[in-house]
Amino acid sequence: MLVLVLLTTLSISSWFSLNEEKQRILKEINNRGSDITRFVSKSLAYSVVGYDYHTIDLLLKEIIFSDEVGYAKVVNNNGKVMSQTGTLIQDSSRMKLFNTDIKLDNDKLGRLTLGINTGLALQYIDSQRFKYLKREILITLIILFGEFFALSYIVIRPVRTISKSLSTTSDNNMANLIPIPSNDEFGQLAMQFNTLNQQLNDANRQLQSRVDSADQKLQQSFNELQAQQKELQQMSDKFLKLAITDDLTNLYNRRYFEEHLEKEISLTHRHGDTVSIILTDIDFFKAINDAHGHSLGDDVLKEIAAVLKKRIRKTDIVCRVGGEEFVIICKRANKNTAIEIAEMLRKTIQELIIPIADKTVRLTVSSGIATLTAENFKNYADKLYHLADIALYYSKENGRNAVTHYDDINKKQSA
Ligand code: GH3
Ligand code: MG
Ligand code: MG
Repeated sequence: MLVLVLLTTLSISSWFSLNEEKQRILKEINNRGSDITRFVSKSLAYSVVGYDYHTIDLLLKEIIFSDEVGYAKVVNNNGKVMSQTGTLIQDSSRMKLFNTDIKLDNDKLGRLTLGINTGLALQYIDSQRFKYLKREILITLIILFGEFFALSYIVIRPVRTISKSLSTTSDNNMANLIPIPSNDEFGQLAMQFNTLNQQLNDANRQLQSRVDSADQKLQQSFNELQAQQKELQQMSDKFLKLAITDDLTNLYNRRYFEEHLEKEISLTHRHGDTVSIILTDIDFFKAINDAHGHSLGDDVLKEIAAVLKKRIRKTDIVCRVGGEEFVIICKRANKNTAIEIAEMLRKTIQELIIPIADKTVRLTVSSGIATLTAENFKNYADKLYHLADIALYYSKENGRNAVTHYDDINKKQSA
C-alpha cells in the first residue's frame, strides 16, 4: 500500500515535471524554427531573385545536413517549387513545419517551408521518462528498506521484547520485568509497564498471603468442627447405648426389647417369618438375696446374664426385662428350635456352679415360650410377651427348673 502511494506520488510529480519540460522544449523548437526560417529566408532572398537554383539547392542541403532540420522547400510567387530537399513528415508530433515569405525590400519573392525535427526532442523526453521511472522505483525501494529497518529497530524489536516478557510468567509474578530497550516512548512504556507489573505483583502477593492465612484458619476451623462432630457422634452413640442397655448386666434393657420385638413382629407380618421369645426367670432368687445379700445377688445376676449371652445364637437377642427376668428374642426360630434353645439354657444353668465370696451358689431357671407364625399372627401378635409369661407361670407352677411352650399348655394340662 505504502509502495503504491509512493509510486503514484512520484509518478504524478514526474509526469508534471516531464510535461513542463516537454512544453518548454516545444516552445524552444518553435522559437528556434522561427529564427532559422527567418534567417534562411533572408539568406535565400538574393538567390531567389536571381533564379540561382544551384545556390538555393546548396543552401537547403546545408540546412538539411544538420539533424535539426529534416525538410526544406522554396516556392516562388507563382507557386513553382524552386528547390526541395529532405523528407516531409506529415506527423506533427515528429516534424513541425515553419513557413515564411522570402522578401527583398518588402517585396515578396516566394515562400520558404522548413520542417524542424521534433522526434529527437520527444525521444529525449521519453528516455527521460524511463529514467525518471527507474529513479522512482529506486527511491521507493530505498525508502521501503529504510522504513523496514527503522520499523524493525524502533517498533518491532521493543514490541517483541515487551510481548516476550508478558508471555513468560512465573509462579509469584504476573510477568517478568521488561528490559528498558531505549529512552524513547517504548522505553517509557516499558518503564511504566514494569512499575505497574511490580505493583500488581505486590498486590498479588498480599492477596495470596491473605488467602493462605484465611485458608489456614478455615482448615483449622474445619478440623475443630470435625473433632467436635466426632465427639458429638461418640456422645450420641454413648447415650443411645445407655438408653438401650441395662446397667448391671450390660444386656439390652426392656425398652430395647419392646422396640425390637415390635420390629420383629412387623417383619414376620411382611415376610411370613417366624419369631419366638423365651421368657426366663431365676427360681427362688429372693432366697439367694436373703442368704448372701443384695450385692452378691447382683454378681449372680451378672453371671447368669453372661452365660445367657454366651450360649444363645449370634442372631438372637437377650434382654433383661425385670429384676431376675430375661427375654431372648429368637429370630426365625420355630417352636421346636425355641424349646431346644430354652432347654439347653436351662440345663447349662442347672449345672453351673457360681462362686460368690467364699461360697458357691447353684440355681435353676424356669422359662415360658411363645412363637409367632404367619398362621397365628392375628391372635398372637399383640400379646406374645403375655403368652410367654403365661407359659413361664406354668413352668413355675409345675415345679420350676422347667421349660413350657405356650402352645403345649393345654396338652400338658390334659395329659
Ligand atoms: P420365683 O421362683 O417364684 O421367681 O421366686 P423368686 O424369689 O425368684 O421371685 P420373687 O418375685 O418373689 O422375687 C424376686 C426377687 O428378686 C425379689 C428381689 O429381691 C430380687 N431382685 C429383683 N431385682 C434384683 C436386683 O436387681 N438385684 C438383686 N440382688 N436382687 C433383685
Ligand atoms: Mg424368680
Ligand atoms: Mg421374677
